Amino acid sequence: MPFHDYKDADDFKRLAGYEIDGFWYPRVTKIVEIKAKPALYRFYGNLDNFEAGEKIKQQSAAEGTLLHETVEAIMVGKPIEVPPQIAPAVHAFMDFAEKRGIHVDKDYVEKRLVNYEERYAGTLDAIGMIDGRVGILDIKTSQAIYRDYALQTSAYLAAMRDRVDGLETRWILRIDQDQVCVKCKSHRRTKGGTEKIRLARNAKAKTCVHEWGPMEGRVELQEFPYWHEDFAAFLGAKKLWEWENEYWLKKVGYN
Ligand SMILES: [Zn+2]
Repeated sequence: MPFHDYKDADDFKRLAGYEIDGFWYPRVTKIVEIKAKPALYRFYGNLDNFEAGEKIKQQSAAEGTLLHETVEAIMVGKPIEVPPQIAPAVHAFMDFAEKRGIHVDKDYVEKRLVNYEERYAGTLDAIGMIDGRVGILDIKTSQAIYRDYALQTSAYLAAMRDRVDGLETRWILRIDQDQVCVKCKSHRRTKGGTEKIRLARNAKAKTCVHEWGPMEGRVELQEFPYWHEDFAAFLGAKKLWEWENEYWLKKVGYN
């Protein structure tokens, strides 16, 4: 949600930014939160109450973080045990990375970055090489690839392109898992302790008494090569975010 009540200046500093070499910078993921997300409001609207939504969101985020951390550990070659509840997604990622020839630079996994000129900081997931090109690789565990991701990754690309040779593009790598009905091919996704069924587009699906197959991993890679307009929009979002947080920004001496 864009509106956020912080306890005090330290709370704001910690949650909304990064302190780097004695200077404080707003955080990319906080800045992009300023943009309204109609899909999120629809999600809340379909629930009994706000608290129910918060609970689902938190549990879903925890599951996403686990998948995220596991994939990053694999990227840097850290020996890990794959948690059984996310094994289908993790194995799908490993197969995909090998087949597509995704090469990740270990020095740029979960890497802190700063744009001194535009004054923001962030943490990128990875910088990778795919088909001989170098780009920001952002991992998402959502059920789809949303256009909003382009704002965040444009900020990463703008901050890193002078520091990484040949850095020219961005990819969203979406990793997820779900089940398919063996009778009608509808999909069932279980996340945050709730299930979401996406009905197949056939006559049978509406009345089908579903019979779910095994949990299967899903991986999707999408490139967003044209980043300049996204970055201009990101800077616009940053302006608006600064306006909304003027009270706190003054308190922490950001001006
Ligand atoms: Zn079915």
